[in-house]
Amino acid sequence: MESLSNKKKQLIVKPLNFWERAYLPAIVHGLSITMSHFFKKPVTIQYPDEKREFSENYRGMHSLKRDENGAERCTACGLCALSCPAEAITMTAAERQKGEEHLYREEKYAAVYEINMLRCIFCGLCEEACPKEAIYLDGDIIPSDYLRKDFIYGKDKLVEPPLNQ
Ligand code: SF4
Ligand code: SF4
Repeated sequence: MESLSNKKKQLIVKPLNFWERAYLPAIVHGLSITMSHFFKKPVTIQYPDEKREFSENYRGMHSLKRDENGAERCTACGLCALSCPAEAITMTAAERQKGEEHLYREEKYAAVYEINMLRCIFCGLCEEACPKEAIYLDGDIIPSDYLRKDFIYGKDKLVEPPLNQ
């Protein structure tokens, strides 16, 4: 079997012609590509003033849903947190008190529900796992921020507003 060094020796190096040595054709070709972009529609958008249209399958910020009576659907069962591959969801369950039926759908509810948006990979598994149809990734892009702690979204940002608002 021919060794690699022998094969390398057989490579024929074609000498460059005058134009190739001058790089002119390559420069002109490159400039023509650049110039052609002046006449095309720009692909950039002026975010956040302009917003891009996303496909229907786009997964954005999570929202915790309410039922038709305005009560929070989430029952703090923890299945979303269990199914999350990034371990981005944490919650604390609490028991509904008498007179709070209009606030929470069932006996248990999430007193604390947090998603770390820096860990989330927007896979949608929490949405798939939820037996109460309580969580959807149907929101906007997560806005940029300066501090890591500001990317931990609690119920104040996640629960959708009450029906009468
Ligand atoms: S979208 Fe995926 S990564 Fe993000 S919170 Fe849900 S399960 Fe976790
Ligand atoms: S969002 Fe759904 S899966 Fe997650 S704790 Fe609430 S009810 Fe359970």
